[in-house]
Amino acid sequence: MNLKDKLSHLSFQEARKLLGPKGDRLIRQGGRYEIDIAGHVELDANRFRVRLNGSEVVIELDSSRSRRLHYRCSSCDMPCEHAGAAFSLILEEKLALGLAIPPPVGKTAAAD
Ligand SMILES: [Zn+2]
Repeated sequence: MNLKDKLSHLSFQEARKLLGPKGDRLIRQGGRYEIDIAGHVELDANRFRVRLNGSEVVIELDSSRSRRLHYRCSSCDMPCEHAGAAFSLILEEKLALGLAIPPPVGKTAAAD
């Protein structure tokens, strides 16, 4: 499983767990960052990188057998809203990041 596969299956619960006890809040605060995907995000098979107001967050797969997600922020030693912003972006913009397959055209959910 490569990084893109892993991120495409990332759930809010998992992201929250990665960020620790304040995960909920960090993801919510991070969600307020305006991120220009084309200009500020790099994603390849091994690394996700996003630049945010002078900080840089990198998410990689752990090299150990567990292949867990591992993140670090260039500015902070603790879970921070920069990392929250990175996870928020991944959760909300899977399509734009190329992490999800678009739903079939013409099939819309019944509105009720
Ligand atoms: Zn930070």
